[in-house]
Amino acid sequence: MTGETLNAFRMAQQQFDHVADLLHLDPSIREFLRWPMREFHFRIPVRMDDGEIRIFQGYRVQHNDARGPNKGGLRFHPSETIDSVRALATWMTWKCAVADIPLGGSKGGVIVDPSTLSIGEKERLVRGWVQQMWTNIGPRRDVPAPDVGTTPQMMGWMMDEYSKLVGNYTPGVITGKPVGGGGSLGRTEATGYGVIYTIREAFKRLGMDPKKSTASIQGFGNVAQYAAIGFKDILGGSVICVSYWDRDDRKAYTVSNDTDFDPVFLQSITDQYGAINKEKAVAAGYMIEDADAWLKKEVEVIIPAALEGQINAESVHWINPSVKMIAEGANGPTTPEADAVIKEKGIFMIPDFLCNSGGVTVSYFESVQNDGNYYWPKQEVLDKEDHILTRAFNDVYEMAESEKVYMRDAAYMVAIARVVKAMQLRGWV
Ligand code: GLU
Repeated sequence: MTGETLNAFRMAQQQFDHVADLLHLDPSIREFLRWPMREFHFRIPVRMDDGEIRIFQGYRVQHNDARGPNKGGLRFHPSETIDSVRALATWMTWKCAVADIPLGGSKGGVIVDPSTLSIGEKERLVRGWVQQMWTNIGPRRDVPAPDVGTTPQMMGWMMDEYSKLVGNYTPGVITGKPVGGGGSLGRTEATGYGVIYTIREAFKRLGMDPKKSTASIQGFGNVAQYAAIGFKDILGGSVICVSYWDRDDRKAYTVSNDTDFDPVFLQSITDQYGAINKEKAVAAGYMIEDADAWLKKEVEVIIPAALEGQINAESVHWINPSVKMIAEGANGPTTPEADAVIKEKGIFMIPDFLCNSGGVTVSYFESVQNDGNYYWPKQEVLDKEDHILTRAFNDVYEMAESEKVYMRDAAYMVAIARVVKAMQLRGWV
């Protein structure tokens, strides 16, 4: 990042304001949607393994629940702020609306580096989070899920804590749970595969051959791993690199292999936070390059699947002229300044809350299965996800064509219209 440090919420408001202008949105509706409806800030005391009590800062932001219960992940990250949680909650509202699933938007966070905690400390921290929030979450109120730094196992502990507090087994309070513990088959792959379903639709519209295309991916967490696997296995294309954060060196690296890139192998040498074992990668013929190398590669598709603000006013100029498409697996990877350059260059954009909506879509299926106490086979889950994402992509694409607007603006137009309609039908505005 150069210049001012990124404020993701300012970025989310800027994107929204731009489309609110295009839509001539009523001032009161605009005022309502620019801010979250509710926020919770709380302290979580946790007994650490050494016997000391450590206090963690927790958040939950509920942006809008006009279309259904609030829905969104829980992020554990050392640089989490209330503004990053606000931004992510706001994007969840648009994400659920663009996927047209009957849920609102929320997000939670804890300021912590989870890799520094033992298993027991993690369990006590997530149970502590539920103890602070349980009266304000629930299957009909607000349903958390995993995000950066949180895992299915943590969701399982949180479901257990909530069930104990309310006195009833309540699997639908949280999604992204482990399979066998109330989770849905296909949830692990869902976000990354969803990215691939939207890329497939974009290839069709742009007349590109997936088998002849190459991709470069930023990140190697849950989203990036399954996007890489899906790009190869579902689309028949090739991936040439991913990147990851090396905790020992305290910096990111790009791991590349132009001829023989195997995401399943890399997944097998990766820890639960997406860190690749450098020595094993090198021994298997991979090259270790600097953090930004992924963005400069000569490929047709780039998939930022890490954190916010990675393609910004400076780094946008590093994008190789060969790039035809950006598929945003991460939330908020592109700043408004970079968007203006991308639009100018004519690179096709699949915006974040459309591109990565597969995760929350399968979370929705998980809660439906929990409610019905009946679990679907994996292929059924993935086929239903594909159906929803294909429709969502085409709704946005058609809006972009008919209104002659950038894909991100079109996605906002589709999402805002649906949320406003629900608010009007409920008599809020
Ligand atoms: N954290 C994911 C996202 O940003 C999934 C949210 C969910 O499943 O509720 O979309």
